[in-house]
Amino acid sequence: MDLGIAGRWAVVCAASKGLGKGCAKALAVEGANLVINARGKADLEDAAQEFRACNPNIEVHVVAGDIGTEAVRSAMLLACPRVDILVNNNGGPPPGDFRDWSRDDWLKAVDANMVTPIELIKATVDSMADNGFGRVVNITSGAVKAPIDILGLSNGARSGLTGFIAGLARQPSLAANNVTINNLLPGAFDTERLRNNLSTTAQKTNQDLNLLREQRVQGIPSRRFGTADEFGAFCAFLCSEQAGYMTGQNLLLDGGSYPGTF
Ligand code: NAP
Repeated sequence: MDLGIAGRWAVVCAASKGLGKGCAKALAVEGANLVINARGKADLEDAAQEFRACNPNIEVHVVAGDIGTEAVRSAMLLACPRVDILVNNNGGPPPGDFRDWSRDDWLKAVDANMVTPIELIKATVDSMADNGFGRVVNITSGAVKAPIDILGLSNGARSGLTGFIAGLARQPSLAANNVTINNLLPGAFDTERLRNNLSTTAQKTNQDLNLLREQRVQGIPSRRFGTADEFGAFCAFLCSEQAGYMTGQNLLLDGGSYPGTF
């Protein structure tokens, strides 16, 4: 299926690895020009080269730095002639016990995983509406639907973003002008983050890493972790011409892990 986004411009945050990279790659294959970001410049440049190799017809611009800073967000928007597609992504907050978290820990999580995407949305959606096309995809987490107790900072900050998006996406000034805003909720995906988390847990609990990995996989009905490529393909569809009638939704990609009917 031609997704109808060749020549569109996409801003993809936190895109040198993992899920963000999967999204940027899928958009590149579909012919969207990219402005991509991550803190580490070398990995970001490597990713940009990979995207250009996927599709020689596209332009790829890179902006290295922390997406949580105003300067980096402004530089991304400046590097993009017109934002048609915005994929919000960022590192996740650390795990822990809420008894150990200070006010500052909470503010950092809310800033990174709620306020940062809202700032980018604020800077882009009205011009998307003026242009009659806009697609915003926020990468959140399956923890929004099924909270994970040690990820309290993530549960809280991402739920705040989710509530805000539920109201914003339904504003007729956006929805009636073909601007959609949806959240993609990953379950367990085989990325560097998941691999690092597994290896930290294995070390801390003195367990065999391969065994631990197998136990995690056995807890997923699909009996495997998701891949960044399949996550990206789903994101590209949400950014397509065809997906214009879906907005304000929370879409869980988790191999069947969430046990509820709805
Ligand atoms: P990943 O493999 O570690 O990749 C993270 C990407 O984000 C890298 O490109 C990283 O590059 C970039 N990044 C991190 N912090 C950044 C910052 N402050 N500013 C700009 N770029 C930044 O992680 P992932 O697994 O793809 O996870 C992506 C998001 O999905 C996270 O919020 C995570 O919590 C959430 N999630 C993931 C899973 C999963 O199973 N993988 C499940 C649920 C939720 P630099 O380090 O160079 O900046």
